[in-house]
Amino acid sequence: MTLRFACKNGRAQLVVGPDNTLVDLADASGGKFSSEPIDAFRRWNEVRDFAATFSGTGTPCVINELDAPSPWPTQVFGIGLNYRSHAEESGMEIPKSPLTFTKYSSSVAHGNADIPLYGKSVDWEVELVVVISDGGRDIAQADAWNHVAGIAVGQDISDRQLQFASQPPQFSLGKSRKNYSPFGPWLVDAQAVTQRDALHMTCTLNGEVVQDTTTDDLIFSVSDIISYLSGIVQLLPGDVIFTGTPGGVGVSRKPPVFLQPGDVLVSTIDGIGTTTNVCVQG
Ligand code: ZN
Repeated sequence: MTLRFACKNGRAQLVVGPDNTLVDLADASGGKFSSEPIDAFRRWNEVRDFAATFSGTGTPCVINELDAPSPWPTQVFGIGLNYRSHAEESGMEIPKSPLTFTKYSSSVAHGNADIPLYGKSVDWEVELVVVISDGGRDIAQADAWNHVAGIAVGQDISDRQLQFASQPPQFSLGKSRKNYSPFGPWLVDAQAVTQRDALHMTCTLNGEVVQDTTTDDLIFSVSDIISYLSGIVQLLPGDVIFTGTPGGVGVSRKPPVFLQPGDVLVSTIDGIGTTTNVCVQG
């Protein structure tokens, strides 16, 4: 069984079967694993082995009751301008190194979290989200995927006015309001993802496709990003990386389009997961 990993009420869960039922990892393993998600990330290879031999079924999964799959990451990284299509629509040069900012961890939310709107310039950014298993420093490019627990789809929700409120701009606060880092609904084990450079990712706004890409348009691949970041900071178990958004964001449209209360964003990576976010007045 491919390992899929979720978190509910702060406890690590396996997601099993075609019905996506939940199995409490600590209970099912007889205490071999603790309930803490971070322990699972530290011991990811063991969790994979356990999932491979697990044959039971779980309890029904109500996606809106899940936490983010890594609910309390120590570090959350965002990578800007990391798709050629988005760099072009932004009128910016292709970055020579990954343009990295922080999304503060209190902005992390489960995949289907509501998005509170403050002001009139809140924008969508569908992204491939990566969660680190055992971290480290100076991780070689060729070894990078061995430090990834799993991947999910997410939204790097961006308050554009706040993002560019100071000069030079500091992106972090504009991308860290409540629920502005939703991802989920669960992680799919990185070792089970074979089409890493050809993942198809879409975002619809009220049913209309606004972003549609494959990950071969990434400027810096997941391996590039992990190698680059770990050469500077230590990556830690459960850390989250939002790897960048493709073209089609609202601010680059003519005229610009921003999120309104009642808008519905649906984000999908084929074969990985789908999230649905409803925008509400903040
Ligand atoms: Zn982004």
